[in-house]
Amino acid sequence: MRPEPGDGLIARLAAAAERVAGERLEDLSSAEVGRSLVELRRVIDRLEAEFSRRLSHFDRLKGYIGEGATSVVDWLKRRCGLAGGAAAQRAEVARELEALPGAVEAFRNGDFGYHHAAVLARTVTEVGREAAPQAAAGLIAAAERVDADRLRTMSRELRHCVDPEGTLAAAIRDHQRRRFNLSQSFDGVFLVDGQLDGEGGAMLRTAIDALTAPLANDARTPTQRRADALVELARRQLQAGDLPSSGGQRPHLVITVPAAGLCEAAGGDVASMRFAGAVSAETARRLACDAALTVLTEAEDGSALSVSRTMRTVSPSMRRALEVRDRGCVIKGCGLPPSWCDGHHRRHWADFGQTEMRNMLLLCGAHHRTVHELRGTLEPVGDGQFEIRPP
Ligand SMILES: [Zn+2]
Ligand SMILES: [Zn+2]
Repeated sequence: MRPEPGDGLIARLAAAAERVAGERLEDLSSAEVGRSLVELRRVIDRLEAEFSRRLSHFDRLKGYIGEGATSVVDWLKRRCGLAGGAAAQRAEVARELEALPGAVEAFRNGDFGYHHAAVLARTVTEVGREAAPQAAAGLIAAAERVDADRLRTMSRELRHCVDPEGTLAAAIRDHQRRRFNLSQSFDGVFLVDGQLDGEGGAMLRTAIDALTAPLANDARTPTQRRADALVELARRQLQAGDLPSSGGQRPHLVITVPAAGLCEAAGGDVASMRFAGAVSAETARRLACDAALTVLTEAEDGSALSVSRTMRTVSPSMRRALEVRDRGCVIKGCGLPPSWCDGHHRRHWADFGQTEMRNMLLLCGAHHRTVHELRGTLEPVGDGQFEIRPP
């Protein structure tokens, strides 16, 4: 006779988990909650070790075939609800860890956790079962001391020593798999997705990190700061003007605005940006604040009549004068250097504001956006500095 489910060891484990889940956290101090998290993590790791032991046995028996699965990974996905990567990792731990003498025992004893075991199993896959025991002996000892990320770094270094040809081949493969997609969604926002090899990722990371530091009173999240840094990288590159030209023109952001579209009182005339489509009137006014301007006159039938010379709305000499006077963003507590700043017309030139020193100041991109898009007003606070008041 089969035992009742309630008598099973795993059912008793589940019942214990339920009792743990019923514990009132309000009765515990934060230190007690912290200790319980550490203990819980140890138990989860011990259970992962047991999962691995049983999976290894099940795999050897090819138990998944009887259930219609094509592989143990397929079975884990279907029956245990794991995602592909997580299922493949469990299967790798179950199969490869045993190639390292002592590793399985140490994992079961709780000497290191599941994520360490995954790094060790991956190392076996990478250096091969034959080379693994000798090559990775030090790695097992390290698993008890360092976190799993550090262990992975050590494992990669090890692979470079043991198998230089293999790591070169892997680097070439990673490079071939590089991809980058920038696509505009139905709603007009752009979606970025891709994969870079180690060198490409490090290059981008280095450049972005240089532009990601939080500003004074910065309310942006780290992901927002990284997004801003990527755009800032492009803005600086376009500003520097040393990208290859096309059609005799240096690449630049192109925005087309109907004649009346920039005036404060304008309504109905929609500005549009190349690659992005329609943009709000406030965005058009901000971008036009400090831009190269070309006036195109059209006949009534829409054919072009004349094109003006392109001129900067903030001339190079005006820009230099602003940089000398303002030395950076004029918002109190900001102080970002001129390279981050646009020239801002306090009364917009489209509303007949003059491009002269008393109507101009430097604002960093974020504060320029606050003034235009969020309709903040600039209040002088002395010393050539300003605060932004909400409308
Ligand atoms: Zn402006
Ligand atoms: Zn600023």
